[in-house]
Amino acid sequence: MLGTVKAEVRTYKNFVNGEWVAGSSGETFPVYDPSTEEVIAQVPSSNAADVDRAVKAARAAFDSGPWGQTNAADRGRILFKLAEKIRQNTAMLAELESRNSGKPIVEAEFDIADVATCFEYYGGLANKVMGHVNPVPANALSFTLREPVGVAGQIIPWNYPLLMAAWKLAPALAAGCTCVLKPAEQTPLTALEFANWFAEVGLPPGVVNIVNGFGETCGAALVAHPGVDKIAFTGSAAVGKLIVKSAADTLKRVTLELGGKSPNIFFEGADWEAAVDGALFGVFINQGEVCSAGSRILVEKKIYSKFVEAMTEKAKRIHLGAPLERDTKMGPLVSKEQYDRVSSYLEIGKKEAKVAIGGGRPKQFGKGYYVEPTIFYDVDNNARISREEIFGPVASVIPFDDEAGAIRIANDTPYGLAAAVWTRDIYKAFRVVKAVRAGIVWVNHMQPTYVEAPWGGYKQSGFGRELGPWGLEEYLETKQVFVNLDETPIAWY
Ligand code: ADP
Ligand code: MG
Repeated sequence: MLGTVKAEVRTYKNFVNGEWVAGSSGETFPVYDPSTEEVIAQVPSSNAADVDRAVKAARAAFDSGPWGQTNAADRGRILFKLAEKIRQNTAMLAELESRNSGKPIVEAEFDIADVATCFEYYGGLANKVMGHVNPVPANALSFTLREPVGVAGQIIPWNYPLLMAAWKLAPALAAGCTCVLKPAEQTPLTALEFANWFAEVGLPPGVVNIVNGFGETCGAALVAHPGVDKIAFTGSAAVGKLIVKSAADTLKRVTLELGGKSPNIFFEGADWEAAVDGALFGVFINQGEVCSAGSRILVEKKIYSKFVEAMTEKAKRIHLGAPLERDTKMGPLVSKEQYDRVSSYLEIGKKEAKVAIGGGRPKQFGKGYYVEPTIFYDVDNNARISREEIFGPVASVIPFDDEAGAIRIANDTPYGLAAAVWTRDIYKAFRVVKAVRAGIVWVNHMQPTYVEAPWGGYKQSGFGRELGPWGLEEYLETKQVFVNLDETPIAWY
């Protein structure tokens, strides 16, 4: 029976230079199960001294360790072995992920499979990185070498904990970088379990270090550290802005994958059932805790009322439940903080628009940070619930008159991560694809994400791309090499 076995409260450590080490202050903080509100683990609250230790380990591993001598094919093999460990331990990792983040177990299993796929992809890509020969007009050979950027500081969020770690670590390791990873303080556990296999697969000490802690202390120290060459961040736009400012002092390379307020656009004539499902799935998957959530649902006026009704009817059938139950489609939000944040937007929304369904806490749960899937309709695109990222199961349904109107509303946002358009008219579909300012556009679907295709945003959704060869590119420098073949001295005097 679920809920009868109390998870053991374990104290984890930081993983630095191949060893488990306590934080220097000795302070720890609790990690929760958001469905029971119980503490399930303690982790170190790391400070600047702990970050310094981890960066020095990564620095040494990069500058003088055996990693630099490891060829690309061997790095690839290590990534394959990591993928194999993930696959062999899917059940354990998925359960821990689900317990710690509140996401439904079935989704956690998909996520863990994606983690393995990500390591496999970059394992295969490691030895396909190639330079160019440059046709310079000289008796010379000019070519480029692709070299690792160095020590990567990687700061990740809590919505896809181990998958976000994989998106960061796999391309960095394929490129030959060394890493200091800071998991989100809410969800560090799967990344820490993952570290148990590093030595066995042949990752030398210091190549991947994991420090636990809060953003303002541990995360900020990593961004400021002069020994870090690049910061890769996924999280809120507010923190992204702080990171750019802080990284400016040492001119680190920065890539940012930030929030969104992505439009999901529905035209008359779209495949009806698929469209209604796509609207709900687009915004409520993973409790709406998705950077690309289709949180602005733009519906053509001719079908608007019927569409809101159909969404509302189907939303009643979304099964909220304990994360570890297999028929659960939505679990609790990740934390009390996130629950309070989303709840405050529900109150704002009730003043700004009409409620079709939801708007509060589902009554069947005594404990846990559950929020009803909530659909606001007749929402103005200037309302706060249309402009600000909520990161919870909250949809704003906005009517539009015609194609031009849909495009105008879709682009009227500071964000530009993703968009989707639903229609059977291919002319219209591709006109919208071209007109929308977003890094990812889906047609007649929303949210499918594959490691082979690039991921990242326009505008205030960040810069740089993850996944595919684009993701690897962000961890590479380009060295231009010029080899003179002409032995005559330079006639300079
Ligand atoms: P949220 O508030 O939804 O948790 P954040 O953007 O604050 O989203 O968090 C994403 C990640 O960024 C987490 O790992 C968090 O600890 C980290 N973080 C938060 N603030 C800072 C900061 N000032 N500097 C560096 N990292 C930070
Ligand atoms: Mg925050």
